[in-house]
Amino acid sequence: RREVLAAERDLPSQTLDGRAVALRANVATAIETKAANNANADGVGLLRTELPFLDTHKWPTADQHTAVLTPILSKLAGKPVTVRTLDFADDKFPPLLADKAVDGHLGRGLPYMLAAPQAFANQFRAILTAGAACDLRIMIPMVATVDELASCARILAEVATELGVPTPPIGAMIELPEAVEIASELAGQAGFFSIGSNDLTSQVLRLDRRDPAVSPALAAHPRVLQAIARTVTAAHERGLKVSVCGDAAAHPLVVPLLIGVGCDVLSVAPAALDEVRVRIRRLDARVCAEVAAEAMGFETLESVQRVVRQRCWPEM
Ligand code: PEP
Ligand code: MG
Repeated sequence: RREVLAAERDLPSQTLDGRAVALRANVATAIETKAANNANADGVGLLRTELPFLDTHKWPTADQHTAVLTPILSKLAGKPVTVRTLDFADDKFPPLLADKAVDGHLGRGLPYMLAAPQAFANQFRAILTAGAACDLRIMIPMVATVDELASCARILAEVATELGVPTPPIGAMIELPEAVEIASELAGQAGFFSIGSNDLTSQVLRLDRRDPAVSPALAAHPRVLQAIARTVTAAHERGLKVSVCGDAAAHPLVVPLLIGVGCDVLSVAPAALDEVRVRIRRLDARVCAEVAAEAMGFETLESVQRVVRQRCWPEM
């Protein structure tokens, strides 16, 4: 089965009716990056940078960031690479932020990082240097306000000026209901959006993402789908592209809906690239749009899944 899926690696990631859906990889290590390149990903849609620092007692230095980034970014010369800044959050935070957590919950790490702007500047310095040969984009996780994104953009621009390099596009992750609410305003400040369906799904459905019952399939719930569709509309009105980088971007019962609401890019784990490409190539974007529109009027996840199976994957 693996070989059957890999047979389409070099074919375009587009639907039967010719809608291009860029297929990128989620990576955090050089090994994953190699796997993504082997599976012919169109670069990296999410480079997670916080994982090596989950035991840190101090904000990482530029050199520490560089040591993590160089083995990954050196494999991605000339390719689009979306580097996400440190995303310490409720489910992953280091001793550095332990005193900010309440009952084991940190909430968002972004405000703490903005309170230490040198922490941002050091990471930006490392990204711009280690990624100089890449088609870089910077992505800010857990954005909740326009001011937060603007502050990040200001620090990035200062670092780029200091290094004498162009400022790469900066995008917002849309993974909080607050961000969906202000998607139009954010779109005015951002270069792109990337939907973090893992957090967005648990937030919209008011679940704890550490709960084992939380599955990528839940992104097909009508309320989550409505949030995604609102985000895409706000972005497209401003000419921005929308990526989805949560695990739902690889789920067979969610992919047709993401295409149906107009998502431009799917970013998935390297091991999922071959299968998602094959699935994109078996879908008709017009059918997906009809199914998504219908799904948003339903009450339950089960009714959405039924219509996706019937209309998109009748053999499944
Ligand atoms: C997400 O929230 O969907 C996401 C891609 O980021 P993470 O899983 O790292 O929070
Ligand atoms: Mg997230």
